[in-house]
Amino acid sequence: MIDVAARMHRLGTEGAFEVLAKAQALAATGKSIVNLCIGQPDFPPPSHVIEAAEKAWRDGHHGYTPAPGILPLREAVAGDLHRRFNVQVDPGDITVTPGSKVALFFALQILGEPGTEIIHPNPAYPGYESLISYSGATPIPIPLIEERGFSFEADDILTRIGPRTRAIILNSPANPTGGVIDRGELDKLVAGLADFPHVVVISDEIYGRIIYDGKAHHTLLSYESIRDRLILLDGWSKGFAMTGWRLGYAVWPKVLVEHANRLAINCHSCVANAVQYGGIAALEGPMDEVNAMNAAFEQRRHVIVDRLNSLPGISCVNPAGAFYAFPNIKHTGFNAAVLQRQLLEQEGVAGLAGTSFGVWGEGYLRFSYAASIEQIEEAMARVGRFLDRNA
Ligand code: PLP
Repeated sequence: MIDVAARMHRLGTEGAFEVLAKAQALAATGKSIVNLCIGQPDFPPPSHVIEAAEKAWRDGHHGYTPAPGILPLREAVAGDLHRRFNVQVDPGDITVTPGSKVALFFALQILGEPGTEIIHPNPAYPGYESLISYSGATPIPIPLIEERGFSFEADDILTRIGPRTRAIILNSPANPTGGVIDRGELDKLVAGLADFPHVVVISDEIYGRIIYDGKAHHTLLSYESIRDRLILLDGWSKGFAMTGWRLGYAVWPKVLVEHANRLAINCHSCVANAVQYGGIAALEGPMDEVNAMNAAFEQRRHVIVDRLNSLPGISCVNPAGAFYAFPNIKHTGFNAAVLQRQLLEQEGVAGLAGTSFGVWGEGYLRFSYAASIEQIEEAMARVGRFLDRNA
């Protein structure tokens, strides 16, 4: 019998990938499946991004690059952050990674160890709890509840900070709820953090470009008082429809960047060379295709929320950002896991149980509306049929 390291038993998984595999297996048997389970835009990346990467391949960009990423890409990231948020970022503080989840992994490997605590939202992107546990640190959840718009009050976090707290993770706009953290609570949180100078803030802003109702994304980078202990995570997956390119980055405090770059050298050497050129084109090129994609998401949000609210036993708040609806199913008589399974098996609708995102997700499902309006309408009709049959 082969032994594996004990920490492997602390590593979780992502429900989305499991449900996707099951949905694909059912589709292969001929069942009609409507897939609202996976968090990726159903659009191609902007055409100039594909052209830039193609040109880079043809121009001979096949070798390793510096581990933190090519300088022009890191400069493009700094330029983008300056244009969007009027903040100064040193390209030397940026590490480009194969997706932002690798930067998250690095952050938690750098900070987490047995005897320490890391505060994270719940329900949330499953990687947070899984990778905190894997690091040996103890995950401390902050419940995100519907009554507070799936956000939190600053005191919910500040009262959980103790001498063992190494970091807090924030995610706005959020997966799976679409919630956006209230700006006033962020101001209070940052002010309160002055009393806890040992605590690092990890801000996952991967959905920062997908925000509705004409609102602007508010980045944690704009708080000067925590810049020396802020790790910003972002990437191209969601905002530029580039999930499979595997391109993300982190902005590190000066004292941490060297650790991150050493992890990069040890783990992946660099992100695929030509992909990095695509990343520059995305940030510096025209935004019309990105804007059109976001307009489509906003329209679909309206359709899915409207349809969900017309279903018996279901209610759904309007998500403020990202591309997920997180309907409350508490009055359907089903728990989240059972409803997820039965909807897939009986109606071919692939959604995700809220519990895939933590215990506080019980009573909710997540539907990604990165799908066509026809698919959304069809999925909602099938959910309605299922609920009528089981009323
Ligand atoms: N953070 C959040 C909140 C996410 O939802 C995801 C993907 O679903 C990621 C990070 C990872 O994205 P990527 O590694 O593709 O940049």
